[in-house]
This record gives sequence, C-alpha cells and structure tokens, in this order.
Amino acid sequence: MKALVLHGKNDLRYETDYPDPTPAPGEVLLRMTYSSICQTDIEVWQHDPFGLFARGGGPRIQGHEAAGVVAELGEGVSTLQVGDRVAVENVRTCGTCFFCRKGRSTLCENGRNFGFSDNGGLAEFGVWPESLCIKLPESMSNEEAPLSEPTSVAVHAVMNSDVHVGDTAVVIGCGVVGLATLQVLQAAGARVIAIDTRAQSLELASKLGAAETLNVGDVDPAEVLPGLTNGYGPDVIIETAGADRTALNAVQWVRRGGRAVIVGFASTPQEILLSRTVGGEKTVMGSSAAGVGDYHRAVNLIASGKVNVKPLISAKVPLERGIPDGFERMLQPNKDVFRILVGNG
Ligand SMILES: [Zn+2]
Ligand SMILES: [Zn+2]
Repeated sequence: MKALVLHGKNDLRYETDYPDPTPAPGEVLLRMTYSSICQTDIEVWQHDPFGLFARGGGPRIQGHEAAGVVAELGEGVSTLQVGDRVAVENVRTCGTCFFCRKGRSTLCENGRNFGFSDNGGLAEFGVWPESLCIKLPESMSNEEAPLSEPTSVAVHAVMNSDVHVGDTAVVIGCGVVGLATLQVLQAAGARVIAIDTRAQSLELASKLGAAETLNVGDVDPAEVLPGLTNGYGPDVIIETAGADRTALNAVQWVRRGGRAVIVGFASTPQEILLSRTVGGEKTVMGSSAAGVGDYHRAVNLIASGKVNVKPLISAKVPLERGIPDGFERMLQPNKDVFRILVGNG
C-alpha cells in the first residue's frame, strides 16, 4: 500500500509498496480517509521526542488524528460493519495496570497509540480495535473526523476544569486545541475570553464566539482581566499555548479559589511563588490527552455543530503530496495554517 513512512529522525518517505496490514481478532481494517497533521507529528519527524528511534524502534507510519472506512472485520468483531465511517480514538490503554485499575486511563503505563507506538493513519490502510473506532454520525464529514482528536483533548481539559454554567473562562493559546477548548467551554455554558499573540487566531476566536479577545502584544492581560471579570479574575483558565511563561500566567491570572488547567508542554522552567496559590486556594492541574468517553463527547459536539472544526482545516492534500505540501509546509516560520488534512478521502 501507499504510506508515509518515518524511518528515523528527519527521514520521512513516501512509499508505494509498504505491506498491507491485517486485522487481528477484535480489530478492523480501515481504509484511511484523512489524517490531520499537528505540531506533535512535526516534532516526532524532526526530533524523535518520545525516543522511538533512539530506543531502536522500527519504521513507523504517523497520523494520530485519523479517520477511515471499515474495509474488513477481524475475528469476533460485532459492533461495526464493512462500510462504516469511523473516527479513530488513538489512545489504546491496557486496562490492567495500576492506573487503569484506578480509573485513570490517561496515566496508563502500557498505553499504545495509533500513529506513535503503532502505525497510524497516513497510509491507504490501518488496523485498530473495533472498540476504539467511533462510528461517525451522518452529519459529520470525513474531513471533520480527524479533528475529533484535538477536540477530545479540549473536552478532557474542560472536564478537568470543573467549569460551571455562567462561569467566565480564559483560554490561553488559540491554536487548534485552544480554539476547540474555547468552543467546548461555550458548550458547557461558560463565557470565554481568548488570549493569544496572533491577530489571525484571535479573529477566528471571535468568529467562533469568544466574548473578548486579548492580544498580549497590545495589552497586558494581568491589567485587563480584572475589569472584564467583576474585579476578581476568571473562574477558570485553560492554558494550551505551551510557551515560556503561559502556564505561570494561568496560575497568576486565575481568581482566588479558581482553577488553572495546563495542557501545553513548555520545556523552560517557570517559577512560581507557591504560597500565593496556597493563600488564594488556587487549584493547578495538568491535563493530558483524553480519557474514557472524551472522544465520544468530541464526536457528538462536532456532529451537533457545537464545536465547529471546519475553519481549523487550512488545506487538504493527497497522500502522495503529504511531505512537500503537508509536513514541509508546517515547518515554515510564520506558517499560516491550523491543520492540514492528508489523504485521498
Ligand atoms: Zn495531534
Ligand atoms: Zn494501563
């Protein structure tokens, strides 16, 4: 089959004779429709941050934000039929480790992942368990389906934020996860203030319903936020930027008794006077990937129109053009793209 195969750091190749996969018992064979590529795919391609190749891992097909059509059923599959359109829930937890047994599947110690540990969606075909292939509602297109993955990350963060109807929430960072988070917060009944450095992203945040947008190039949110929140600061802040000081800002700007949820990964240390969070009874928590049920919620939110992912799709390119028009375009500085869909539909 045709596939984009990563052979090592900075060595991504388009191949036409990669072996077709066969579904194991409980798995289905998917004819992949589209996968969207995100910054994590670019990081893995350029830097191998998870150490896949450093540990001697073999060639891998990327594409963790993926969708397809069921082409063949493995032994014992009973809930899907050939021809069903599905989104791929990419995290495959073990169900038996310490954390899975505690109900904390995002902390699974033996987790596998479509597009990282296992071959993903940037190919003609893929295999994955039937229980992790979510049938698409009629109203959801194959193009929207891969965006269920970043939306599930947003759902997980919003669930972790414990936001309430009528709360004021802030989203720091208006990339794809941030703009999905904005909309999930709105679906949960919150008024949302969006913060970013890019005018283009803030314009889109406004179109998607943000009550206010703040460009940190123009204003200091620390000064402006109290005026927008009855003098106290936002009830909830969800940080998705992963920039140098943004996690710190989330903790600083949230009101006393509020909750800061950190989604972005920053590699630089960010110092905080912990006694302020103690005195202010602030909650700070990390939110990673998505837990059980979050992916179904994401699909429902997109299918019902409560989360609009269409403006987050910047381009659609066929598999054979995935490297020059997808991966290499994502590398350019000041890239004017949110997600690029790769696949042949
Ligand atoms: Zn991603
Ligand atoms: Zn586990």
